[in-house]
Amino acid sequence: MKTSDKLLTLELQPWAMAGGSATQTTSLAHLPRVAQACLPLSEGETALCEWQLQSQLRHPDTLKQLWLHLQARLDVTQTCQRCLLPMKIALAVDRHFRFVADEATALAEDDDCDEDLLSPAPELTLQSLLEDELLLAMPLIPRHTTCDTPLPQSPDQDLPHPFAALAGLKLGKP
Ligand SMILES: [Zn+2]
Repeated sequence: MKTSDKLLTLELQPWAMAGGSATQTTSLAHLPRVAQACLPLSEGETALCEWQLQSQLRHPDTLKQLWLHLQARLDVTQTCQRCLLPMKIALAVDRHFRFVADEATALAEDDDCDEDLLSPAPELTLQSLLEDELLLAMPLIPRHTTCDTPLPQSPDQDLPHPFAALAGLKLGKP
């Protein structure tokens, strides 16, 4: 496994133009926006993001198009919003991007295509793209499928909910 963070801050568009392709591992510490959205790592724990970035020049009708394919995996820990205990979440990114001339073109064409559009900019680095995509891959509300330790229930919650009784009546119907 190769770990190098040199590529993180390179401007992506020229790198892709030059036929860039890379498979690497980046520590969560180098993805501060992602790290901020997660619980801090415990002492001695490391979180590594494995990613693969591939550029591709496509020629539909001889119109040259520059594409990027980003795949990434990262295990993070967030707080379950039901039981408030930490939970592991496996983030996975697999997205295709196409470079367009500028931001205006990106806005104009965005609704008509499945791929994501990128406009060249010095601030468009692998780090910004990777962070954006990992953040997007996070659940809106992190929740265990089944919580091990449900929150202690208050006496009120033990009473049947009025709608629960209604649901029972409905089920009784033929
Ligand atoms: Zn939970």
